[in-house]
Amino acid sequence: MSCGEARELIHGYVDGELDLVRNLEMERHFHECPGCANVHERLRAMRLAMSGSMPYFQPPAGLERRLRSQLRAANDAGSGLRSAGWQWQWAGIAAALVLTVVGTWRVTLMSQQPGSAEELAGEAVAGHVRSLMATHLTDVPSSDRHTVKPWFNGKLDFSPAVGDFKDRGFTLVGGRLDYLYNRPVAALVYQRQQHIINLFVWPAPERSDSQIQLTSRHGYSVLHWVRSQMNYWEVSDLNPSELNEFAALIRKTN
Ligand SMILES: [Zn+2]
Repeated sequence: MSCGEARELIHGYVDGELDLVRNLEMERHFHECPGCANVHERLRAMRLAMSGSMPYFQPPAGLERRLRSQLRAANDAGSGLRSAGWQWQWAGIAAALVLTVVGTWRVTLMSQQPGSAEELAGEAVAGHVRSLMATHLTDVPSSDRHTVKPWFNGKLDFSPAVGDFKDRGFTLVGGRLDYLYNRPVAALVYQRQQHIINLFVWPAPERSDSQIQLTSRHGYSVLHWVRSQMNYWEVSDLNPSELNEFAALIRKTN
C-alpha cells in the first residue's frame, strides 16, 4: 500500500469502517511508514479525546425544536422579500449547519458505548486473524498452564488466569503477548478439534461483572464479558454454542 492510499483510507481506518483485509494492510503500512503511523496516532488520540468528552455535552432538551422554529421564522421572513434572494441562501446554509450539528450530537451520543465495544470487537477479530496469518500463534507454546501462566510474569502488569480444559475438549495450545486498543494484553490460545480460539484478557478496573455478549464479525464469533475486574474477549470460527460452553468454563475458574 502506498502512502497516498494510506492517507485516503486513514479516516475510515480510525473510524473502524474498513474491512478486515484493508485493516491489516493499513496496520502493515503503519509498521513500515513512520510518517503515516504518526498521522494515525494523532487522529486516534483526537478521536479518543473527543469520545471521552462528548457524553458531557448533552444538547439541552428542546434545543432541536427551538432551532427548527427559529429557522422556520427566518425562512418565512425571507420569503416576503423577493429581491433578497441571498437571505434564502443563508437561511438554507444555516439550516444545513444546524441539522449537521444536531445530527452529529445524536450520532455521537448513540454510538458512545456500543461504539467502543464495536471497535474492541473489531480489534479482537483482527488480533485473532493476525495470529493465524503470521504463523505467530503463540510465544510460549505449551499445553501446561503452569508453564503458560508464569511466562507472562514481567511482561504484563497483571497475571491472567490460565485454565486447563482438556478433559472438556478445549486444549490449551499456549500463550502470546498481543496488543489491542493501545495496550498489551494476554492472548491465551486454545484448540477445539481444528478450531483455534483466542482468549484476550486484560484488566477492567472500573467495571463490574457482565453477562456474556455475543457478536459476529467477518464470519468469526466474538464473545465478551467482564469478570472480577478483567476484560475477556473470545474469538474463534467455532460455533457460538461451543464457544459459549467454553466461556462458561472460563468464568467458573475465575
Ligand atoms: Zn506512508
